[in-house]
Amino acid sequence: MTSEVENKPVICTESAKELVKELRASFATGKTKSYEWRLTQLNAMVKMMEEKEPQIVAALHDDLSKPELESSIYEIAMLKNSCRLAVKNMKHWMMPEKAKTSLVTFPSSAEIVSEPLGVVLVISAWNYPFLLSLDPIVGAIAAGNAIVLKPSEIAPATSLLLARLVAEYLDSSCIKVVEGAVPETAALLEQKWDKILYTGNGRVARIVMAAAAKHLTPVVMELGGKCPVIVDSDINLQVATRRIIAGKWGCNNGQACISPDYIITMKDYAQKLIDSFKCELERFYGKNPLESKDLSRIVNSNHFARLSKLLDEDKVSSKIVHGGERDKENLKITPTILLDVPRDSLIMNEEIFGPLLPVFLVDKVEDSFDVINSGTKPLAAYLFTNKKKLKEKFVATVSAGGLVINDTTVHVIYY
Ligand code: NAD
Repeated sequence: MTSEVENKPVICTESAKELVKELRASFATGKTKSYEWRLTQLNAMVKMMEEKEPQIVAALHDDLSKPELESSIYEIAMLKNSCRLAVKNMKHWMMPEKAKTSLVTFPSSAEIVSEPLGVVLVISAWNYPFLLSLDPIVGAIAAGNAIVLKPSEIAPATSLLLARLVAEYLDSSCIKVVEGAVPETAALLEQKWDKILYTGNGRVARIVMAAAAKHLTPVVMELGGKCPVIVDSDINLQVATRRIIAGKWGCNNGQACISPDYIITMKDYAQKLIDSFKCELERFYGKNPLESKDLSRIVNSNHFARLSKLLDEDKVSSKIVHGGERDKENLKITPTILLDVPRDSLIMNEEIFGPLLPVFLVDKVEDSFDVINSGTKPLAAYLFTNKKKLKEKFVATVSAGGLVINDTTVHVIYY
């Protein structure tokens, strides 16, 4: 659904309607329901990643300067794992499940039979543009649906590559890519879908949900939030620091939904932690991180300006204790640590989604729980400690999408 001449999206309300009609007709043939079709598509996706890894890595580099190792692990290998997991379990997932019957209906038998919903829409985000586009499709294929993918226009090289590769490797009578931005997404959202899977920010999520509500379409929302890291003093400091660095700057330079957003530590421990960060960050990214090939760039000038605004706020700019260098032309910001940021600052109230890491100070480590629980529910929360009681209290007190103790971001890895 792209014009190859100018790579301009060509979808409008009428063509979106036609597209859904075409996919409904394909779905109605029953083709997507068979085990063989599902298996063929998933195997084709693995083949696509094996054959086109260099092109995928290059597109991610164009869009984000994403380091090759990160692309290979977090975008390609994780997607392959998803496909393999689905292939391994699909027969079992498709099998009818025996259900109990009542004495009243004796001698009847019953079973729960899973069926595909129909035609699903996947709207994805720019930060892991390959994984976040195709991972929901793995599930949709395994469940036997026809699919339209709308990748993010903010990662245009990956969006174009996805349109080409999906057409080349997958069954284009049942799986299609529509490139485009707001008008194209709006045209798609006017249609009736059987499920919408959206990854992105909460503002657009409300638009997507409102559009879905008109048709009572179920939605899956993968949104963001602020992910805190509590750092106690009873830890292996070097290991903790390295694991925080890997989860923060080693994940798309902080542009990841579960990367550490801010640290909470004690007033009398903070300096030790900052010193450790300074030392380890130099080991990871050298003396001049602006030149490092191991750090993604900021995705575009709008996000660069957004992050600059967080840094330049009056009560915040004086709090930088490490980094803070910016290269506007090349959209680079170095790993930046801010110490003792005020709670009412922008940086402590918005999802940062970039290489800035504020450190919030408390008197006692237990005070961290109140700080976290007074904000919105985090997507992930992390704790570094060796104390058994503190670990138990963390799990009992903090409510988040995922909790990890003594590491960061590893809970998204499966297989
Ligand atoms: P984005 O700007 O790429 O937007 C996401 C999608 O929404 C795009 O496809 C875009 O075209 C579409 N869109 C934008 N404006 C729209 C509008 N007005 N109407 C209809 N569609 C519109 O991505 P983003 O929102 O900047 O992504 C970052 C956010 O996503 C962060 O909050 C991050 O935490 C979250 N995220 C969550 C996960 C997760 O798995 N939970 C993963 C990655 C990102």
